[in-house]
Amino acid sequence: MYGDELNALLADRTVNTPTGRIVRMLSEHGAQSATQIAKLTGLAKSTVSTALSELRKSGMVVEAVAENGREAGVGRPSTRLTLNPEAGTCVGILIGLNHIQVIVADVSHAVLADKTAYVTADYTPAEGVQIARRLVNEAYLEHGLSSESLIGVGIAAAGPVDPRSGRMLRASGIPTWAGIEIPKLFEPVFRRPIFVDNESNCSALAEMMWGDAVGREDFVLFTLDIGVGGAIVSGGRLVRGVAGAGAEFGHIGIDPNGPLCRCGNRGCLELYASFETPLVHASRRFGRSMTVDEVIRLALAGDSGCRRLIEDTADVAGRGLGIIGSTINPPLVLISGVLARAGELMLKPLRASFDRHTLVKRDDVPAESRTEIRISRFLENGPCLGAVGLVLRHQGRLL
Ligand SMILES: [Zn+2]
Repeated sequence: MYGDELNALLADRTVNTPTGRIVRMLSEHGAQSATQIAKLTGLAKSTVSTALSELRKSGMVVEAVAENGREAGVGRPSTRLTLNPEAGTCVGILIGLNHIQVIVADVSHAVLADKTAYVTADYTPAEGVQIARRLVNEAYLEHGLSSESLIGVGIAAAGPVDPRSGRMLRASGIPTWAGIEIPKLFEPVFRRPIFVDNESNCSALAEMMWGDAVGREDFVLFTLDIGVGGAIVSGGRLVRGVAGAGAEFGHIGIDPNGPLCRCGNRGCLELYASFETPLVHASRRFGRSMTVDEVIRLALAGDSGCRRLIEDTADVAGRGLGIIGSTINPPLVLISGVLARAGELMLKPLRASFDRHTLVKRDDVPAESRTEIRISRFLENGPCLGAVGLVLRHQGRLL
């Protein structure tokens, strides 16, 4: 019922009225107290108060309900306000290597549905968009949502995306998607604004909006999975690069005489720090096909061979992270990807190797100047949740 008005306010950043600024801030940050709203918008408290009463009267803004079902901070100044959940819904879609995931959330940031369909790696873009459409339809039907409430669709792509056209530059894992202009593919099917970014940037966005980087302006996301990747956030913004290929950490060359990488270069970090080769070793040792989770479980239970595979991978990953450390010296590094599930077992050798290979050592500087390295919040849903975040932040819009 408020969808059009909301979309207009979100889309037109030149609308600099207090109500426009508050609506955009609540869409980006979720529920906030009036004090926080004043701080985050830079508006005077009295201006915020007037604009909020206008927004509450129109029904666009309501009091947030605490997670336990009670009103948040009843009667106290800490009462939190949010966009009316009925004002609109957003969809995030992950175009994965072997699965397509859909998350539906409302504009108050509540996740309403999460659905996944598994596919074979050679699925075509046309098949992908139809599967995504089917999952979205099912989610809206199951949760009694009106498709009219949809304000936009965010797409997390498994490869670098040109920030101007939304074209996938490379898609080594799903080759049929290389060169595809994602907005042009999805817009005719969903008939809503389409927002696109690569999955690592989406993961970083999820950490900024809901995870371990809330309120952090500068950090690096470092993904250790079957591939190696990441994202750089500087001054609260993602560093995409001129062609959309920024923070492709997996393709930092660490050995000019090393084996050929799927990207065409030699000796890329991904060849040594992804868990693909260790899985081959583990499978040979156990005489059957092993998963990363099985190796981690065995390692945590004390199997020395599995521990060694994780420690060696973390060691070489730390070498790559050391290069990133010497380049941008970030205050915070969040580790994501399946290998992060090994927790401290992986973090300890990673931190030690990082310190050995980066310029400024841990003991050289006071505590506040050290790079903090820890596991990210979203090891599973980061990319798809971040795709929802693209819509809420009106970021990555290309059409
Ligand atoms: Zn490479």
